[in-house]
Amino acid sequence: MPESVSSVRRFQMRRIVAKFGGTSMGSADAMRKASAIVRSVDGEVIVVVSAVTGTTDALIALGNTAVEGGDWEVLAGRIKERHRMLVRELDLDLHQQLSVLLDEMWSICRVVAQFGELGPSVLDRLLSLGERLSATIFAEHLVVDGVNAEMVDAFDLIATDRQFGCANVDFPVTNSRTAGVLFPMITNSVIPVVTGFIGQSNAPHRYTTLGRGGSDYSAAIIAAAMDATELQIWTDVDGMFTADPRVIPGATVLTQLSYAEAGELAYFGAKVLHPKTIKPAIEREIPVRILNTFNAAAPGTLINSEECASIKSITSKKGITVVNLVSLGMLDAHGFLAKIFTAFARHEVIVDVVSTSEVSVSVTVDRKVSSALVEELRTFATVDEPETGMAIVCVVGEGLRTQPEVLGRLFSAVGPVPVSMVSQGASKRNVTFVVAERDARRVVAQVFHEFFESDPTL
Ligand code: ASP
Ligand code: MG
Repeated sequence: MPESVSSVRRFQMRRIVAKFGGTSMGSADAMRKASAIVRSVDGEVIVVVSAVTGTTDALIALGNTAVEGGDWEVLAGRIKERHRMLVRELDLDLHQQLSVLLDEMWSICRVVAQFGELGPSVLDRLLSLGERLSATIFAEHLVVDGVNAEMVDAFDLIATDRQFGCANVDFPVTNSRTAGVLFPMITNSVIPVVTGFIGQSNAPHRYTTLGRGGSDYSAAIIAAAMDATELQIWTDVDGMFTADPRVIPGATVLTQLSYAEAGELAYFGAKVLHPKTIKPAIEREIPVRILNTFNAAAPGTLINSEECASIKSITSKKGITVVNLVSLGMLDAHGFLAKIFTAFARHEVIVDVVSTSEVSVSVTVDRKVSSALVEELRTFATVDEPETGMAIVCVVGEGLRTQPEVLGRLFSAVGPVPVSMVSQGASKRNVTFVVAERDARRVVAQVFHEFFESDPTL
């Protein structure tokens, strides 16, 4: 009987996974704000943290300096001082725990410098220290604030393969390990403070990392494993915007986005969310909320399965190069696309937008195209001189898919500006225009005006 009562209560309890990014861990003041947020949650909380802002970059530089025989101790000293200062400012008694982690950093660097070798597994171990330091400090800060919190190393939760630097998660093992460690904690009213970004490889067990910006992904994995009611991503902006506020002063925070729309936005320049984050959350239909640690009262952006028929956001990206290719063997063009993509892949150049006709293909890349790549492409295609100084303008919204008139309005809003490529994503939720850089701002403004200023319903 008591058990069924408690399971009913448990079912109704809100369970929040709250992930704090690097800037939310970046200073004593930021940590105080994050602590106040954790304390204000009504329900169960699991905290996931990034490294203190800039630490992962600093650790990469540290490893590189050590392997090149440079003065790595100066860099290690800066990382140490940054964390020691946080501890001092927060008035925490963490000398012992911090020393253990900092000693580990020193030992790794000494070995790297001695052997002149920095293998991927050693680098991941070095990088793991960023999140292990921030989680240790933040957990202790919560304790001093009267919260029953405990640091949890995601090494014990997230199981991965051995692809160091960008490891793939073994979900069945991860889900059971995470539930096994975290459920007993939250049942005993302990708030876990979990390191983002890191995991543990299969045997021989080593630290792995999930790719840069991977703490959002860690938080989503944990939210899915724990069947959370909401995943909160606490960052330093008010949410996702209708357009870049630096380009369009009238841009506003989006109150709601569908999962698919958020995924499209993440790919096309809105840096707020890691695209992979979406996946574990979508699979369990867990709502994701983007919130601002430094403006906690703002409602943020809610991302869930609701698909309303509207245009949501306009993004743009400059520094784009367009490559136009025409097949040499007009009547024997099969395999043309495959050859093109193989050539780009061989030169490790990622293609963003593609548009094709029977014999010609245009692609965009976000960097200069080397002459070696052009030479290779010229063995099977006529290739014009790549057009540099271009920009991508990307319009995202379920309305593009569900309301035919929206597309018409979009094209007339782009109007007389010369467009060198147009592409509609397979999901039909985005349309991308490639225009000259100097026209990008005008196109964004015109589209913004059409959908956000003239008709408030769209
Ligand atoms: N600290 C890691 C990075 O800077 C992961 C994260 O912050 O999400 O990439
Ligand atoms: Mg991040």
